[in-house]
Amino acid sequence: MNTLSYQYLDSLYLNITNRCMMACPYCIKQKWAGNFRGHSLKLDTEPTSQEVINSIGNDISKYKEIIFCGYGDSLIRLKEVIEISTWLKSKNAVVRINTAGLANRYHQKNILPELKGLVDIISISLNGTNPQEHNKLNNPMFAEESFDEIINFAKLAKQYIPLVVITAVELQNLDVSKVEQIAKSIDVSFRARPYLD
Ligand code: SF4
Repeated sequence: MNTLSYQYLDSLYLNITNRCMMACPYCIKQKWAGNFRGHSLKLDTEPTSQEVINSIGNDISKYKEIIFCGYGDSLIRLKEVIEISTWLKSKNAVVRINTAGLANRYHQKNILPELKGLVDIISISLNGTNPQEHNKLNNPMFAEESFDEIINFAKLAKQYIPLVVITAVELQNLDVSKVEQIAKSIDVSFRARPYLD
């Protein structure tokens, strides 16, 4: 059975797609046999918005945040993110999206205005300190152009989303302190994330 939402610590995570704009070699999808935090996140089919909402239930106030996470990039399913977030905000939830930061390029438009008022926090992965390194570490859809695209997405996001965070996974061959400097240089928050094997 598909896991559409699951609790971890005090937050609820939503798993609405396995599709992504990147194909990171370190992604858990490379070894689907394993579970993530006790849940198999591999989807047989992508859920409808209503199926995701049904999986959340009505007792939302107990969660600190509701997080679009995956393993995939939820912003590929922009329409569903908007529908689910609209419902979540009607219940006063705090909504966060974890993303690869390539949604504008993927959809070929600025999608951020559509998230205004629906998303409180956006966490944007930046696992790389320059276009070449980022391309090598993450295999993004738009190759070396992805690095600048992500930084521009983070800059633009500040106009529409109250809290913008660049995150970097503590990979062995990545200097996360340099990613932190990039985040500082564009005036967004930064968080290092442990590598979950
Ligand atoms: S961005 Fe995340 S979901 Fe996408 S391939 Fe990389 S680790 Fe996996």
